[in-house]
Amino acid sequence: MDQGELLRRLDEINVWRRRDQRAPHKPLLLLLALGRLQQGKKRLAFYERDIRQRLHDLLRSFGPPRKSYRPEYPFWHLRSDELWEIPDDDLATIKGGSGASPTDRQLVDLAVRGGLPEPVYRLLGGNPELIQRAAQKILDGHFASSLHQPICDAVGLGRHLEISEKLRRRRDPNFRRAVLTAYERRCAVCDFDIRIEDDLVALDAAHIQWHAAGGPDHVRNGLALCILHHRTLDRGAIGLERATGGYRLLVSDVVNGQSDAFRHLLRHHGKRVRDPQRNEQRPAPGFVDWHRREVFRGSPR
Ligand SMILES: [Zn+2]
Repeated sequence: MDQGELLRRLDEINVWRRRDQRAPHKPLLLLLALGRLQQGKKRLAFYERDIRQRLHDLLRSFGPPRKSYRPEYPFWHLRSDELWEIPDDDLATIKGGSGASPTDRQLVDLAVRGGLPEPVYRLLGGNPELIQRAAQKILDGHFASSLHQPICDAVGLGRHLEISEKLRRRRDPNFRRAVLTAYERRCAVCDFDIRIEDDLVALDAAHIQWHAAGGPDHVRNGLALCILHHRTLDRGAIGLERATGGYRLLVSDVVNGQSDAFRHLLRHHGKRVRDPQRNEQRPAPGFVDWHRREVFRGSPR
């Protein structure tokens, strides 16, 4: 096992996708394992004590909305990517080692453990920079960039933000220009347009279908949003709904708060999102539908 081999295995996970459905189970388990490694925790973790609830919560916070979250799936299936191991002793207790996929209950009752395979663990353990690269690869492959820091915080992974900032800038500068121009350099939801002299502050060109989920760098997959509305869009707290000749903003019923900021967010619920300068720049319905299906949480208010 060397660096190239490890990064290639991570890429192969990144390639797997059922059409454009998000599949964050394996990536989130790996990030959790990288967080444990960085914190000097043991290689093998108990499913029930160390993984189950945390992975469930990660899936609920950062995965697509689903009726159930199934942390047992990646705990078992990541083994086939040669990036996870369940020790032989524990395997032997599962259905007498028949190899069938165990249930959540079995993993709990049999006190099953799992972790990065020994060679992967050794390679990463001696190389903090490689942990960063591996984590960044997983994040870039599966999550909108505005979620990278919150995910790292949630899995306990310290991270050098500069790496990702650099990567982000390398990505299509024309997309940002095209989107900001189409929306006349203000937030499509709240008109935010604060500048320092001529420099825009805190205004982003947001992807509707995440770049990490195959969304293109095209103006019809973009919206100019202030960082508040960008972050809440990526977290599924707000979404879009088709309205005659354009879109309306939806605020999810799972969002709550007591502050002026919350009331500010609510004020835009049901309101028209600003149209771009030209009709042909308007968000394409396929991207909006993807966001509604794969990111938007709860139900509209
Ligand atoms: Zn805004």
